[in-house]
Amino acid sequence: MTTLPDAKLFIDGKLRDSSGGATFDVISPWTGEPVCKAADATAADVNEAIAAARRAFDTTDWSTNVEKRVALLKRYRELFEKNRARLGELAIHEAGAAQGAVNRAHVDMALDGWDDYMAVFDKVEWEKDYGEKETFGRMHKRIGLREAVGVVGAITPWNVPLYVNIGKVVAALLAGCTVILKPAPDTPGLGAIFGELAQEAGFPEGVINVVFGADPALAGEMLVTDPRVDLISFTGSTGVGKRIMEQGAATLKRVFLELGGKSAKIVLDDSPNFAMDVATAMLVFHAGQGCAVQSRLLVPKSRYEEAKAILQGAYGKFGDNWGDVDNPGHIMGPVISRRQMERVKSYIDLGKEEGATLLVGGNIRPDKGGGYFIEPTCFVDVTNDMRIAQEEIFGPVLVVIPYEDDEDAIRIANESSYGLSGGVSGSHDRAINIARRVRTGSMSVNDGMCISGDIPFGGCKASGMGREWGVEGIEEYTDVKILAWPVGQAQPA
Ligand code: NAD
Repeated sequence: MTTLPDAKLFIDGKLRDSSGGATFDVISPWTGEPVCKAADATAADVNEAIAAARRAFDTTDWSTNVEKRVALLKRYRELFEKNRARLGELAIHEAGAAQGAVNRAHVDMALDGWDDYMAVFDKVEWEKDYGEKETFGRMHKRIGLREAVGVVGAITPWNVPLYVNIGKVVAALLAGCTVILKPAPDTPGLGAIFGELAQEAGFPEGVINVVFGADPALAGEMLVTDPRVDLISFTGSTGVGKRIMEQGAATLKRVFLELGGKSAKIVLDDSPNFAMDVATAMLVFHAGQGCAVQSRLLVPKSRYEEAKAILQGAYGKFGDNWGDVDNPGHIMGPVISRRQMERVKSYIDLGKEEGATLLVGGNIRPDKGGGYFIEPTCFVDVTNDMRIAQEEIFGPVLVVIPYEDDEDAIRIANESSYGLSGGVSGSHDRAINIARRVRTGSMSVNDGMCISGDIPFGGCKASGMGREWGVEGIEEYTDVKILAWPVGQAQPA
């Protein structure tokens, strides 16, 4: 039986058990069995972590000493590199990554994203010249200074934990903030390793802290409501994102929210690769547990029957080649938890009740093991008003919706409360014009890769606000302060 190292908290420079000594089991999605224990942080632990981060921000040179920050983040990155194999093990046994997926979205993409942050860091405009302007008969020189926001509470989900943790922690530290990382209860190990390696890298006490617990909300709510925390950077569900905005209002918390999605892939009738474009829409990678996955496939009514046949063939070819933890070729494993499996199943039942046609899949698969296996599933004859077309299922369930013409495709893509990502495939100019008109944070045209650590990622509408990654992702953790003085006086050093 696989075991992972127990997950410890990291507070004020120390790797620790919880103050009460309590732990909780971390469950493998493959087996349904515990793989390790994690410290169950108490309110006192969270309070200590916030105090440490506040102190480190207010009383050390962390926010102003850029060279020190960059040197430590390089050292930290090297330690993550040395632990690459362990990161992969954690992604497999905690997050349920299949071996064929682990070195893409989970480890490689996350570490590449870190390198991208380091590479774009030089492009952050720390000081901006706003020129001179006459006001009340006198000329004034103005400059803007970018400064770290302060203490950041980084609250993250379980689906691609390393990627999201790096997205927040590295950007906030580069910007000069101090951080309290709060990973999901399902994946504490991929948070705990940030503490362990921060200690090894020699970070100053309190600059980075990691807390987690069995209760999904306790530590997060403390971060959101505590006046000592300046900014909440949250990735997770839209429901919790809304609650964070509400609860953060009392302390006028600055919030940065990366939430759910129900992105559309539009395949145009003139696509030179129509069969490939339809077939690759199969929602199987990491069992569909990605915020930016294109979980609504929009195909022209004129080629709907053809698209169905293509999908039937593609799913048939994929067959039962998923769900084996030892198979390096598998890109799909279990979903994260029993709760998630039941939730996905309830959406499949709902789809049938709503009148959609189940083309493939639809079943829980206990024969795959004691974990949380649910088949690749595809619904056709779906209308966009059905709940399976509107709500985020976060599992391997694709819905296929027919459209009349380009206007109809754009309308359907936009008739969603979400606006995270999407795609359009077809002749270039037509596809670009459609991509411009879909209200999302990113659109992939003919499979163009729109997610990368050197460009911003984020959503609009119910998919959230703010941008992660790229220069914008670092600037998210800064504020701009203006200095102005009458012309003729020397510029302050
Ligand atoms: P979730 O919202 O249930 O939990 C996310 C995090 O919030 C966890 O750490 C959880 O412990 C914490 N939390 C729960 N209740 C809280 C509260 N009341 N106050 C503060 N924190 C609280 O989401 P999840 O189930 O872990 O992840 C799946 C969701 O994440 C999906 O909706 C998915 O679309 C979204 N997601 C979005 C992105 C993106 O970049 N937009 C990326 C990955 C995942």
